[in-house]
Amino acid sequence: MTRDIYRELGVRTVINAAGTYTMVGGSRMSEETLSAMASAARSHVVIKELQRKVHERLASITRNEAAFVTNGAAAALHIAGASAIARKWGRPFPSLSPEQISKSEIIVHRAHRNPYDWSLRLLNCRMTEIGFPNMILPTTEDDLEYAITDNTAAVFYFFMPPGGWVAKGALSLEATIRVASRHGIPVIVDAAAQVPPAENLWRITGQGADACIFSGGKDLRGPQASGLMVGTKDFFSWVEKTAFPTYGVGRMFKVGREEIVGLLAAVEQYVSMDGESRVQWAEDRIAAAMKAFAGSSMVTVERLYPNEAGQPFPQMAFRFAVPGCSEEILRLLREGDPSIFTMAADGESVFVNPITLRDAELDSIVERMKEIEALFLNKGGK
Ligand SMILES: *Cc1c(COP(=O)(O)O)cnc(C)c1O
Repeated sequence: MTRDIYRELGVRTVINAAGTYTMVGGSRMSEETLSAMASAARSHVVIKELQRKVHERLASITRNEAAFVTNGAAAALHIAGASAIARKWGRPFPSLSPEQISKSEIIVHRAHRNPYDWSLRLLNCRMTEIGFPNMILPTTEDDLEYAITDNTAAVFYFFMPPGGWVAKGALSLEATIRVASRHGIPVIVDAAAQVPPAENLWRITGQGADACIFSGGKDLRGPQASGLMVGTKDFFSWVEKTAFPTYGVGRMFKVGREEIVGLLAAVEQYVSMDGESRVQWAEDRIAAAMKAFAGSSMVTVERLYPNEAGQPFPQMAFRFAVPGCSEEILRLLREGDPSIFTMAADGESVFVNPITLRDAELDSIVERMKEIEALFLNKGGK
């Protein structure tokens, strides 16, 4: 019998209706991935040898020159930044003087600043900001051109399609790469949550980005503490000198053989998955939920496309006809049995994102929404 560790610990499991949020464990691995990880854990191997084989396979199945498994997208961002600085000076990162590091520059659009860029800020280099996070004066290619100096190590680009939570005002990725490549400056792309679609695993580097970073623990459904970086042979020769198992900064971002193998298994499954029928499944589930509440004076189900991460995958929001009620809805969902975790879409509605959900879980959510609807209707005396 398998052990129920959460029951033993007295930790409640939740249905995750929010999407691939790290605070509730991002996504779930397949049995196939779990068994690959268990198999990796049983023996010792020389990590460098394992990395070489896995990275070669990951590069090939993601149609890239090179790939690297890290312990998360945030870690990958730090490693990519350190690798770019090392590359700029032509020396391994730990051999650089504090002055060399602190005068190195990474260019970033103000529209692309976000809490994950601590991964770059902590490198201790200079962050050169360009443009504004709005459309009154969109960033121009000249703005980027003028920001490039002899100390520029990389341009950082946060990739998120319109409709996602990114601010407006940045150059397109295409224009950014055009300017940077004229100067031989690598472009590092944070696309952590940008699968689906699976094609992004090769499309962004196909446009000329030197490194593109994905979270392994979100929709890729790899180990929660894994990240995938793909890109060019030249840039990745510096990544290999910087990342684990190299001493120096790489050593702080240890990635286990279980994660290395687990992410490979997950990516193999991801690229062979039928993305279109998965979208159709979500559309069908959303249509069914809309139908279940058709004619309700209390609840409206809204289809949202793209989703909050800008992914071409539909999600929905349940809107209640009670001003300012979303916090109470969240509480009622959390306190129900089974417990349901999600986020507010606004003051009166909450997200139900099918991306992490199974059919039986969606059934439970609709059932619970019906109960809450009845509760509110009774309270309102309608
Ligand atoms: C989730 C996310 C990250 C961090 O990914 P981890 O794999 O959890 O480290 C970085 N950047 C963006 C834009 C993200 O959405």
